[in-house]
Amino acid sequence: MTRTTRRKFMLAAGGSFGALAVGAHPAACGAGEDHGAGPAIVVPQQQVPVLAEADVVVCGGGTAGIAAACCAARHGARVILLERWPSLGGMATNALVNIWHTSDRTKQVILGFVQEAVERAGDFMHRYADSPKRPETHWFDPEGMRVVFWRMLQDAGVQVICNLTAVESVVQDGRLRAVLVDTKSGRRAVCGRIFIDATGDGDVAANAGVPLDVGRKSDGRVQGMTMMFCLGDVDSPAVRGAGSEVRERVFAQMCQLRDAGQFPQFNEGAAKHYIRSGLNHVPHNMVPAAGNPLDESELTRLSMQAREDVYRIVDLWRREIPGFAQSRVTHMGHGLGVRESRRIRGLKTLDGDQVVQAVKHPDAVGHGFWMIDIHDPKGSGYTTWTDQQRELMPPAGESYHIPLGMCLNGTLPNLAVVGRCASATHEACASVRLQSHCMVMGQGVGTCAALALEAGVDLAQVEIPKLQAALRQDGAYLEDVP
Ligand SMILES: Cc1cc2nc3c(=O)[nH]c(=O)nc-3n(C[C@H](O)[C@H](O)[C@H](O)COP(=O)(O)OP(=O)(O)OC[C@H]3O[C@@H](n4cnc5c(N)ncnc54)[C@H](O)[C@@H]3O)c2cc1C
Repeated sequence: MTRTTRRKFMLAAGGSFGALAVGAHPAACGAGEDHGAGPAIVVPQQQVPVLAEADVVVCGGGTAGIAAACCAARHGARVILLERWPSLGGMATNALVNIWHTSDRTKQVILGFVQEAVERAGDFMHRYADSPKRPETHWFDPEGMRVVFWRMLQDAGVQVICNLTAVESVVQDGRLRAVLVDTKSGRRAVCGRIFIDATGDGDVAANAGVPLDVGRKSDGRVQGMTMMFCLGDVDSPAVRGAGSEVRERVFAQMCQLRDAGQFPQFNEGAAKHYIRSGLNHVPHNMVPAAGNPLDESELTRLSMQAREDVYRIVDLWRREIPGFAQSRVTHMGHGLGVRESRRIRGLKTLDGDQVVQAVKHPDAVGHGFWMIDIHDPKGSGYTTWTDQQRELMPPAGESYHIPLGMCLNGTLPNLAVVGRCASATHEACASVRLQSHCMVMGQGVGTCAALALEAGVDLAQVEIPKLQAALRQDGAYLEDVP
């Protein structure tokens, strides 16, 4: 599944980073991800103007990329962050995924950048009353968090450019030299010394030829996606007062229609909760979609279908449940919420045993604790979270280490990968994909990048005790390092 469109480049005469001359190569014109065998067109040699250049180039402005960019900049690096969408936050804001988890069910074990973001968010952030007894600790307003993230990046001195997509990785002499981005004015290059791929999908790494995996071992399918949505004008007291008879009848009706193929799939546990609670302005996590998020045509079809499914479900509630009669859909995700796509093969790979056995690593950058939370890759809406299967979670009060090695790779010494595309098995990814965990990686790798530049070494050569001391100094929780 990997696409290895490595491009050779040479500096144009007359100046460093003036323009990149990109050689003729076959361009894609076929179906699927690997376009090697399909029809192709030839693109003539191109001079690609350099748009920007920095010490550290972060691609992707989700939670992982934001943490990485801020932390690298605070440690003295000149940082640029590139984001394809018009706003920051990735899945957290644009897919309406607004819950953070920082507790091992006895105490908070994720602090550092995450805690800082919690505090910076002010009224946009809310703490759950029963924290830290449950792993969920905070929920936030996705609209407000877009602004909070922007301010944090501005204060750290990060140059942010949204609305452009990293589409090619330029490799020379075993190092990544530039990413090519598509802009309204054509293709441009962004050059750097260290690159951090925080695209969620591992786009930069894939384009640079870093080995990757996609999906579970048995059939290559990735976790199910979800179209999140919010409702307004729900008469919540009327919903809660409707009585269990009404709720059970409506739930049974939903199941019957679905089983007869006349109604969308839905997450049963979540649906029961929503028709019991009648929530206004709260993202509903219950409409699944299954397929390949790396295939644009398939993703388009699935997204449109999921939007229709939301209305079909809400229409039934409006008809059948007092209190929902006047309700309306106020928001849906900007796109489908994607939980998993590519995962790089790193210097270390986190696996399911390491998660549930709370394994510790000498190169830890922080802690993770979330269970192996798999949403059915076939799109039934079933999730292991609903069942709270104990054998899929670390014991209460215990957490595993997130190692730096899962963000580094053996192909390109100046490229790190953070977030849900870091090196983990399908099972471990189902834990470490959490936003709080992605930000732990981001803080670790961003800090590591700055230290590497300062010492004039590659990322993997940074002295781990020095990195860990810097992380602790910056408030990160980092205990039990072997
Ligand atoms: C429905 C759903 C529910 C979830 N529930 C929870 C939950 O309750 N709690 C929790 O913590 N986590 C939850 N998760 C998981 C979590 O939201 C994600 O795993 C996490 O947000 C991933 O962060 P990231 O920064 O790695 O990637 P993303 O958030 O995907 O960010 C990647 C960013 O890179 C940008 N990008 C992509 N490609 C390019 C490119 N080529 N060039 C430039 N920019 C690019 C994207 O636009 C995006 O902004 C859920 C996920 C989903 C989908």
